[in-house]
Amino acid sequence: MKKKITIIGGGIAGLSAGIYSAMNGFNTEILEMHNVAGGQCTAWERKKYRFDYCLHWLVGTSKGAFHEIWKETNVINNETEIIDHEVFSQIFDKDRNEFTIYTNIERWEKYLINMAPEDTKTIRRMCNDMRKSALLEPFSLPPELRNPLDYIRIIPAMLPILILVKKFGRLTCREYFNKLDFKNEKIKTFLFELYGERNFSALGFIFMLGWFNQKNAGYIKGGSYPLAQRMVEKLERLGGKISYSKRVNKIIVENNIAKGVILTDGTTISSDYVISTADGYTTIYKMLEGKYISKKIDFAYKNWELFTPLVQVSFGVNKMVKSEAPIIINLSKGLKIGSTKPEYGYSIMNYSYDSTMAPDGKTSIVMRYESPWKLWENLEGEDYKNEKLQIEKDATVLLELEYPFITKYIEVIDVATPKTDVHFTGVKDGAYEGFMPSKENMMKTLDMQLPKLKNFLMAGQWLFPGGGLPPSAQTGKWSIQLICKKEKQRFISDK
Ligand SMILES: Cc1cc2nc3c(=O)[nH]c(=O)nc-3n(C[C@H](O)[C@H](O)[C@H](O)COP(=O)(O)OP(=O)(O)OC[C@H]3O[C@@H](n4cnc5c(N)ncnc54)[C@H](O)[C@@H]3O)c2cc1C
Repeated sequence: MKKKITIIGGGIAGLSAGIYSAMNGFNTEILEMHNVAGGQCTAWERKKYRFDYCLHWLVGTSKGAFHEIWKETNVINNETEIIDHEVFSQIFDKDRNEFTIYTNIERWEKYLINMAPEDTKTIRRMCNDMRKSALLEPFSLPPELRNPLDYIRIIPAMLPILILVKKFGRLTCREYFNKLDFKNEKIKTFLFELYGERNFSALGFIFMLGWFNQKNAGYIKGGSYPLAQRMVEKLERLGGKISYSKRVNKIIVENNIAKGVILTDGTTISSDYVISTADGYTTIYKMLEGKYISKKIDFAYKNWELFTPLVQVSFGVNKMVKSEAPIIINLSKGLKIGSTKPEYGYSIMNYSYDSTMAPDGKTSIVMRYESPWKLWENLEGEDYKNEKLQIEKDATVLLELEYPFITKYIEVIDVATPKTDVHFTGVKDGAYEGFMPSKENMMKTLDMQLPKLKNFLMAGQWLFPGGGLPPSAQTGKWSIQLICKKEKQRFISDK
């Protein structure tokens, strides 16, 4: 008899766990509360426009341990087309002054030095920090399966990274920029306004540009929805099952051993192992009633800051509207979109570079801004509908500022709020990427196993501050590596 693994959640972590579980011969079932797989990694169609909610960049599009996972899980195959943008983002302040971030560090360095020759040394220092981060190589094994040699082996190659971590691991972007001490007002203002005003880790900023520079963080044509569907295809090809509209309410535990789950409709599903990739707080404090926590877990869930949720306004435009940059950020202060005063402005994603996102000659454009959960949690009925209508109006005015005369071509407007995300994925307070990577937690992770609870594992974005697709898929893989170890079975990853 094959052992049964039940996986809660069919997001990227759940799909990854499901694929490796089926690959390794387990009786595999993913229970997904929504009627579609992907979790945060999703998109939806309106009148043949596809509006993407997630993918801009995927670390591991060309090499490394993440790349192996993307190939093993069918996220990347011979047919996938990877687009490496030259511009990461184009940023405007309220007076339409422009600042560009290029993905190629040489090019960005030249651009910055040209803008601020007085800061040449400082710019070079910052860009060199980014270049060093190219050496960062994620571990392929979970911490529990690494031996001291795995650490010793990487030390020589990773030394520059370890130095970076030591120097900047506990700094926010603001502290890092202060240390660099730019003289040029324009660079200072843009960098501080973009990254310096929140508790955002300096290492996050440095690594992000390092990955782009290596062309190892591309965009996959088609975006989030086909990406998740390719994983579902692989899961099913291997004999795994995904069941939709199945919401787990409780995890069954007997004598501190996970034995299965109970769905919200009362159905009981027995299992040899349970892996939860659902929202971390809900798993630990609700499905397991807070009975299996450590001080570390409790501290994290009580103290670590969450991502502020997003409002996404998607536009279907009956015209081809090209853009120089895939992301345009407008840092204007004092704006109001609906009831929100977006603290950090808004961003516009123009998908004209991906021909699958809209019918020929048309364009999908997405606008996003942060909107605190407290504005949404009690908004219901007519008030909620009216808020969405006001957002439509305000967002259209802003889009018109970016693309004059566009309004008459808009044929679809779709507003997704933090409530939409919570409704479809159960993510806590709309924190779409889990814990904010701050200076306090950037180098920390949460354990996949809970104290004293056997045959249960967690995987997904809540284990790594900053979340993202790579750690989600990687912890999915790790969960099956740990189960294989327990079952004294060789782990397979290449079926
Ligand atoms: C706007 C946006 C942009 C992003 N951009 C990027 C990017 O460019 N690159 C990148 O790497 N990452 C990006 N991310 C982050 C990335 O999408 C997430 O970190 C990742 O998808 C999380 O995967 P997960 O499987 O851990 O969690 P989730 O996606 O949250 O999956 C959890 C799944 O569990 C299901 N579930 C929850 N509760 C239950 C229950 N009780 N019973 C059954 N099922 C349940 C949910 O429906 C969901 O499908 C972005 C996210 C957003 C929202």
